[in-house]
Amino acid sequence: MKTLSLYQCECCGTRYNNRMTCAACEKSHKRPIGVEAWKYVAISDDNTGLPVTVKVTMHDGSSAVYKRVK
Ligand SMILES: [Zn+2]
Repeated sequence: MKTLSLYQCECCGTRYNNRMTCAACEKSHKRPIGVEAWKYVAISDDNTGLPVTVKVTMHDGSSAVYKRVK
């Protein structure tokens, strides 16, 4: 009988049988640190009051725009 080792990325939960691949996965993830902009639409178009997009700043200085789907 053989014991198998698995490594799990603490950011996305993906499991790997190779430690280095798992470490590379963890290192690849950019952590959000703040919201730098957001956008709303008129109440006639969306009465939730929630922003339809937000621009998120990541720990490495990059940013990305996310759009609400619900
Ligand atoms: Zn990962």
